[in-house]
Amino acid sequence: MRLSRYFLPVLKETPSEAQIVSHRLMLRAGMIKQSSAGIYSWLPLGYRVLRNIEQIVHEEQARAGHIPMLMPTLQSADLWRESGRYDAYGPEMLRVEDRHGRDMLYGPTNEELITDIFRSHVGSYKDLPLTLYHIQWKFRDEIRPRFGVMRGREFLMKDGYTFDLTKEDALHAYNRHLVSYLRTYERMGLQAIPMRADSGPIGGDDTHEFLVLADTGESEVFYDAEITDLKFGDRAINYDSVEECQAVLEEFTSRYARTDETHDAAEFAKVPEDRRRTARGIEVGQIFYFGTKYSEPMGATVADADGTRVPVHMGSHGIGVSRLLGAIIEASHDDKGIIWPEGVTPFHAGIVNLKQGDAEADAACQSLYDSLKALGLDPLYDDRNERAGGKFATMDLIGLPWRITVGPRGLKNGVVELTSRRTGESEELPPEQAVQRIASIYGTVNA
Ligand code: ATP
Ligand code: MG
Repeated sequence: MRLSRYFLPVLKETPSEAQIVSHRLMLRAGMIKQSSAGIYSWLPLGYRVLRNIEQIVHEEQARAGHIPMLMPTLQSADLWRESGRYDAYGPEMLRVEDRHGRDMLYGPTNEELITDIFRSHVGSYKDLPLTLYHIQWKFRDEIRPRFGVMRGREFLMKDGYTFDLTKEDALHAYNRHLVSYLRTYERMGLQAIPMRADSGPIGGDDTHEFLVLADTGESEVFYDAEITDLKFGDRAINYDSVEECQAVLEEFTSRYARTDETHDAAEFAKVPEDRRRTARGIEVGQIFYFGTKYSEPMGATVADADGTRVPVHMGSHGIGVSRLLGAIIEASHDDKGIIWPEGVTPFHAGIVNLKQGDAEADAACQSLYDSLKALGLDPLYDDRNERAGGKFATMDLIGLPWRITVGPRGLKNGVVELTSRRTGESEELPPEQAVQRIASIYGTVNA
């Protein structure tokens, strides 16, 4: 993309309404624009990152064997009356009436809808296990929408639903989700710690929340510092293996890690004092096993091997896709702007032309641009007639991990400058080598 032809409405001033750094930076970098309280338009740069996050979620869901689909945002109130949640959910649910006077609602979550789909089409234990998920907009009329996309009213969520014949199978589905989430967040450059949590209005027995440590997080968390040394990495795992998933779950959840809702001071005191940490965290996902809570009242049953109809065991598993943008920025920025992890960056590299209009500099930039494109990478070429300082400030603000700077002086010696946004370190090297370096970095990230 050429910046002169792109739509990147960066703000010079720091918006006064934004209280936390991720919200400020998303507004300043021209990623989002508020349309009303807690509801945002996703401008092109923000939309690119949102799509990249979705893509990682889809890829990791596929790896775990989960099946994508799409359910609507507007739902009929009737299904929610069947489960008993129409009245229970409270004012966070946005209720609307259609022209025929039928009660509808903008879905805050999808347990009822998916259970209805399941009971209409699945009748035998032979069709289990089954995991269906979608990535869809949700609406919750939060009493205090704030912090930009972190606590919106309209927000994008991945929600997956598992159906199993027995509790044991359902717990494997739960463990499998925990493992696949560890990998999902790490690919986004995040450490998200699974913590024992409270089940809230979804209801359930087993539940973990995934928290990203950040001072601006809304949850108070208590954990054993050893947890932050754990990395899932790129280990190969067989998601069908009960033992393998169980082992990873134990590795990542055996140390103390809880939110304030489930915090137990006596248990916490057993952690050696020098490892005890109290901090704040951002909830970026949650997994639940809730047994037959919905399948029983809604009649989602299957025939077991003896032909007896039994209610299925269910779980639901969510990732806060739009909230993740805020969480990633909270975890990765400096005073100049955002620092995107390679896994989610909106463009792989920026090209800064120090002397737009200089035939040699223009040609070198164009050639870098074409070479990166030919390798399947997406560069952002700042081809505007602006001073170098302004171009650098924009690149730093929007946070592309790599910048190639091209100017007549370097070109005389056959070199361009490759700069890491994270470390600020620069290196001079021939243009072809800069391209190769970037290609190899992303080759590793996307492997
Ligand atoms: P919270 O406790 O933050 O209100 P929740 O526990 O009610 O969230 P879940 O039902 O577990 O939310 O939804 C799954 C994920 O969706 C959450 O882990 C979070 O990342 C995201 N999410 C929930 N509410 C919002 C919101 N208002 N804005 C943005 N993301 C949200
Ligand atoms: Mg939650």
